[in-house]
Amino acid sequence: MVIIARVPAAEKSAFPSQPPNVRWTAARDTPFFIPDLIPLCVVSYEEAKAEPGLRQEYLDGWLEDNPCKAVPKILYLPNVKRKDIPPPYDTDKLIKRIWKSKNGGVEAEFSKPRGFVLYIPEIYGKMFPHPVFATQFLFDRPNGYPDMTTRNYSESLLHHETIHSKDAMYGMKVGRSVVIDYSNIDDLTPDVFHNAGEVRANLAEFVRHMGMGNSLEGTWSKIEAQNYAYDMRDSVDKENSLDLIVSKVQSRILDRTIARCE
Ligand SMILES: [Zn+2]
Repeated sequence: MVIIARVPAAEKSAFPSQPPNVRWTAARDTPFFIPDLIPLCVVSYEEAKAEPGLRQEYLDGWLEDNPCKAVPKILYLPNVKRKDIPPPYDTDKLIKRIWKSKNGGVEAEFSKPRGFVLYIPEIYGKMFPHPVFATQFLFDRPNGYPDMTTRNYSESLLHHETIHSKDAMYGMKVGRSVVIDYSNIDDLTPDVFHNAGEVRANLAEFVRHMGMGNSLEGTWSKIEAQNYAYDMRDSVDKENSLDLIVSKVQSRILDRTIARCE
């Protein structure tokens, strides 16, 4: 089901004519329409969960509500298969490189990824936007947190993935002095890179939820961030100075941020 915005008769004449498949949300830039067009013509989470055919439209709507320069698109891929990855990632050669590359394809190696971002080391931090991929598992119940609603969990994951896209676009800025990008990504131990990225995405979610006073998802994000921080420190190659710096600075940022928020 789709919720159609009702436009008061008096304003109908002022409303631009649009082909039926154009989203009303396009009119949102015009302040005049805002009060009467909420809720907009957007598929709800519950509708998308119940009807897989509506999920792409739901994700499009979510991205419109949560715009991010680093995310040009959230693409729904019910099952992750290499052949499903769309352009510009669809050439065999490139896909193989992503999957085989030592720092590429982070999160895609999980057997049931809910959402993920593909990293291409050669363009990491080179200001390219990165699409987020969402699978059917995004709409599954959260593990281990029965009180968290599936909707809050799924939306939290989408915010989480956008942080990965931002890192991929701007480079992973760890503190004030360290940026991981195409120039040094291969100097960092892959597990340190991966775990540091997860600390950052979960920490960002923790801060966002604290700002909204929402403790359940905030607590979940905090615990995830702390767990990944343990893994990050565990995966440090003690001979690798970049590993040591990233792990130390990212851990300090995590601890200070949590202390400040609580
Ligand atoms: Zn992640």
